[in-house]
Amino acid sequence: MVDFTYFMPTKIFYGKDCVIKNGTVLSTLGKKAMIVTGHSSAKKNGALTDIRSALEWAGIAWILFDAVEENPSVQTVEQGAALAREKGVDFFIGIGGGSPMDAAKAMACLAANPQKSGEDLYGAAMSHLPVVAIPTTAGTGSEVTQFSVLTRRSMRTKASISTHVFPVFAFLDGKYMDTLSARVTNETAVDALSHLTESYFHAQSNIMSEIAVESGFFMFAKCIPSLRKRNYTSSDRQALLLASNLGGIAIAQTGTSLPHGLGYFLTYEKGIPHGRANGLLMGAYLDLFMEKEGEKIQKMLSLLGFSSLEELKAFFKEVLDTPETFSDAQIKDFTKRVMEAPAKLASFPYPVTEEVIYELYAKSLL
Ligand code: NAP
Ligand code: FE
Repeated sequence: MVDFTYFMPTKIFYGKDCVIKNGTVLSTLGKKAMIVTGHSSAKKNGALTDIRSALEWAGIAWILFDAVEENPSVQTVEQGAALAREKGVDFFIGIGGGSPMDAAKAMACLAANPQKSGEDLYGAAMSHLPVVAIPTTAGTGSEVTQFSVLTRRSMRTKASISTHVFPVFAFLDGKYMDTLSARVTNETAVDALSHLTESYFHAQSNIMSEIAVESGFFMFAKCIPSLRKRNYTSSDRQALLLASNLGGIAIAQTGTSLPHGLGYFLTYEKGIPHGRANGLLMGAYLDLFMEKEGEKIQKMLSLLGFSSLEELKAFFKEVLDTPETFSDAQIKDFTKRVMEAPAKLASFPYPVTEEVIYELYAKSLL
């Protein structure tokens, strides 16, 4: 049994209209909020309307920063934080997929530390203002993780900032997902399944993370037929949101593993969406330990309702669209860059060499 520390400080409100029903808790965080969103989805899916009503009801002033791009950059975070400081914001509310939620966490750090620049987010840990998270995709689980993954152009990749920023409150309402396209629904669902899987087979996997993962697999199984049909009921949306949240609780304990570490280069260099990048690598990743972890693999398959690993691998292909093409030279370059920052390799419980990484990319992408 692995030693562990369990920490999950985020208060979760789950259910239809949970923002409106519980919004008064926001008054414990201050008198002025900055709402952080992507360009348009929060305006269309009802989440922005709900949070504005809750804030107005609680007598909290707010400003909107609605310019977070997918895979948010350090530069966007700097802009948001500068505006927050200028306007005297007390706390942040990230609404969206992982991109706005992660951007809000990093802005909360820079807003509390005016002397720091975006690059300092990768230095020593710093204090931060409180953050509230409202997920509108069912994938990242960022509403319950301490991670904020930003595009770091100076390092030509994506990386999580050093400071751990757990949201204080997370509001989970599946109705915000009704406006999601089938493509984004499936890609983000694959991210959730990647979190569950990578946590389960992580070097730090432990009894507490596994409780979350196994419940997450069970919830995810309910949604598999709808992901295949690309047609989702509201109960599918709610189950997916819970599976994603359980994946977040799990990676908050263990971290992610090789598919995430290798996938960041696919997103940075080829613009491949995050969940899809993980999904492309998942089959070859599972092959690395299918014999050593036979019993645990069987448990995962049975909770997910698959009869074999081949069926699970086929599922990843089936729910993602046609693969992009890669060259051997690109894969060699990604492999070299993974080996230059080897921290992620420690997440894998078996020895990982440059050859293993190259093979994982080659098997997945060539
Ligand atoms: P995203 O980049 O946040 O959003 C993808 C797209 O979906 C955007 O075009 C967005 O539009 C749209 N969208 C979001 N919600 C919608 C809704 N309800 N209806 C219609 N469209 C909607 O995607 P994501 O996959 O959720 O997040 C990916 C990011 O999270 C990556 O940067 C990844 O590295 C990070 N991540 C973080 C963690 C963590 O623990 N912190 C874990 C995994 C991944 P708008 O731009 O208009 O909003
Ligand atoms: Fe992820």
